[in-house]
Amino acid sequence: TTALSIKDLRKVYGNGFEALKGISFEVQEGDFFALLGPNGAGKSTTLGIVSSLVNKTSGQVKVFGYDLDSQSDKAKCELGVVPQEFNFNMFEKVEDILITQAGYYGISAGEAKQRSEFYLRKLGLWDKRDEPSRSLSGGMKRRLMIARALVHQPRLLILDEPTAGVDIELRRSMWEFLQELNASGTTIILTTHYLEEAESLCRHIGIIDRGVIVKNSSMRDLLQQL
Ligand code: ADP
Ligand code: ADP
Repeated sequence: TTALSIKDLRKVYGNGFEALKGISFEVQEGDFFALLGPNGAGKSTTLGIVSSLVNKTSGQVKVFGYDLDSQSDKAKCELGVVPQEFNFNMFEKVEDILITQAGYYGISAGEAKQRSEFYLRKLGLWDKRDEPSRSLSGGMKRRLMIARALVHQPRLLILDEPTAGVDIELRRSMWEFLQELNASGTTIILTTHYLEEAESLCRHIGIIDRGVIVKNSSMRDLLQQL
């Protein structure tokens, strides 16, 4: 099964800048895929389009075969997104943030409570459940973003620079968490400009540069060529 299929995707921003020049790539179910590239290459634009935060100019995006453009929410239900910037209500309590999110997906209150506890424990935030999110450290906020993206149990998790600005210890524990999640069947796509991060985690990589995919291969093949 193909988890994500992107075809001829183009993005021209309002100022006329062409950030994506018709890119195509696929990510298979179960894969751990890195979209790698220098700053300004188009990584966030690509993920922004997949997560419906940015409008595409043209092209096609499918998630588990469901067109992102279709009226149904099927594509969106398969997808969990962790953007770079924190975007939760800073006054809402940590646990309530997850319960509210579960509500958006029609998950019952009882189930929402159970899942919140599960993911907060997994990500080391259970002790903070009654705190407003603004009182969390940067690393905790990032973990809360991940917990929130998982509460509806998407088959595909997309993270934009998940470990940017995160200290080495937390980076390692986030890597472990993501590896475990991937091993349990969740397809993961992340963007990074650290080759080391892609190397430690990912089986396939796409390298993007100035709006063009310049390489798409397995991590193993890439390392043999370096
Ligand atoms: P769209 O083409 O998707 O409608 P716009 O071109 O209108 O997007 O820009 C969306 C927002 O991004 C605007 O608020 C704009 O100020 C901001 N923006 C403009 N240039 C950049 C840039 N180089 N990087 C990041 N954000 C930018
Ligand atoms: P990356 O995530 O790889 O660093 P981005 O997708 O954020 O790259 O940006 C790709 C290019 O598009 C950059 O040159 C950036 O300045 C430009 N860009 C991003 N957002 C906007 C915007 N809203 N308006 C105009 N240009 C933008």
